[in-house]
Amino acid sequence: MKDWKAAAAALYDGGFRPMFIDGQWCESRSGEVLDARNPADGTLLATVPKGGKADIDAAVAAARKAFEGPWAKWTPFERQNLLLKIAERFEAEWEDLCLSDTLDMGMPIQRTLGNSRRVLGMLRFYAGQAVTIHGQTIPNSFPGEIYSQTVREPIGVVGAIIPWNAPIAGSIWKIAPAIATGCTVVLKPSEEASLTVLMIARIMQDAGLPDGVLNIVTGLGADAGAALAEHPGVDKIVFTGSTATGQAIARAATGNLKHVSLELGGKSPVIVCRDADIDKAVPVAAMAVFANSGQICIAGSRLFVAREIHDEFTRRVADFAARLRIGHGIQEDTDIGPIISARQAERIAGYMAVGPNEGAEILTGGNRVEGADFEGGHFFHPTVFGGVTDEMTIAREEIFGPVISAMPFDSLDEVVQRANATPYGLAAGVFSTHLGTAHKLAHRLKAGSVWVNMYHAIDPAVPFGGMKMSGYGREGGTQHMEEYLDTKAIWINAD
Ligand code: NAD
Repeated sequence: MKDWKAAAAALYDGGFRPMFIDGQWCESRSGEVLDARNPADGTLLATVPKGGKADIDAAVAAARKAFEGPWAKWTPFERQNLLLKIAERFEAEWEDLCLSDTLDMGMPIQRTLGNSRRVLGMLRFYAGQAVTIHGQTIPNSFPGEIYSQTVREPIGVVGAIIPWNAPIAGSIWKIAPAIATGCTVVLKPSEEASLTVLMIARIMQDAGLPDGVLNIVTGLGADAGAALAEHPGVDKIVFTGSTATGQAIARAATGNLKHVSLELGGKSPVIVCRDADIDKAVPVAAMAVFANSGQICIAGSRLFVAREIHDEFTRRVADFAARLRIGHGIQEDTDIGPIISARQAERIAGYMAVGPNEGAEILTGGNRVEGADFEGGHFFHPTVFGGVTDEMTIAREEIFGPVISAMPFDSLDEVVQRANATPYGLAAGVFSTHLGTAHKLAHRLKAGSVWVNMYHAIDPAVPFGGMKMSGYGREGGTQHMEEYLDTKAIWINAD
């Protein structure tokens, strides 16, 4: 077993980590810094620059210069080759990348390590996509010899803003398609988890990424994030985060009518039909929420169970939850790590209190984990509420913590109506062994991803994104490339 504690001490010693603009490692213009703390115990891992508007201005200028400079001449093969080299370097430094994420945002090390297939797959998938960009030759109806064709052009300078709950995958999903299409990027990571993103920039620089193609400005959302969202020199914003921030970003983007794509929050339903394979469904339904301590946008936090099996199923989910091991992310047997911050922990504690106040029954959990091993961090017991009704706060609002709200249902029509009765539309899960039922539900649920007899599957080749207030635009798949491309029509009068 690897000594993760020793590796952690070697990786972060509380020192300053600069940000990355125009190929240079720098402080913020103001000289101010933010602390990066381990959410498991509050120790200071590093300080990072508190970037602001002036830093965003410099980063956007660098990204513009790179976009219009030699980067524009890179061939698809060259961009493909760069992504493949980055993937190789990622593979070589994978353990450090994962350890960094585990330390900075708490995700258990087994989970961060397990993300490799997807992240390395993303880099290689977009490497493949880099050589597929093409327009069309389109016959027109003008008399004479007039030809019309389209070309696909990179959209320009992309502003990327990401949350803290999956920095490696979150940043690669923004950067890789930009490299594949020939765009340039200014990325603002979350103030809660910036360190791994800085490591990613260093790896990309080592792999040969030209100056200015990727710029990282660390800082606060209301400050650096807002400056990026409203910047007139940015052509497109790609954002992942909460719905409220997504709305603010969409408003800020109107100044220069920049393109926007938004991956936002959710309150996803998981529907367990009476013919479900219960043994298989229990752990999947539980981990549909408890993975990453519930800090996942696709958390299947509304658990609808057919009334005939409701009591048995929810009891088994609660038993499963009670057996999960809670601890520091660097312990290899940890299932549930800490919550990212005191602020987020307060929110979750509030929902755990409001549930019983509104009449929900605690089947397991419902409180913080106390004890010497958990001092300085914010840990919660995985929680299952029974007796929940659709009107309760815990059934309506995104909690972003380890909380399942279980509810019985009687018919498919009824459960579809209730499952869809939310402003969100990010994901949904269905458990049924009946082919017709599974198809019916998959088609009738209003969600960007529906998983049948599984959950959480996200693949670089398959589009992912939200409907309704879970956002618009897609990441993954060939559709993702479209988000980074503009179409130009060219007309040629050959007469
Ligand atoms: P958040 O919206 O608070 O912050 C996300 C990012 O936006 C951070 O980098 C933050 O600094 C920045 N930001 C904050 N205010 C801003 C502003 N006014 N202008 C520009 N940028 C600003 O979200 P969070 O708490 O970091 O993450 C949790 C949320 O993210 C949840 O709602 C979750 O569902 C969502 N999320 C969605 C997906 C998805 O793919 N749909 C994935 C992960 C997380």
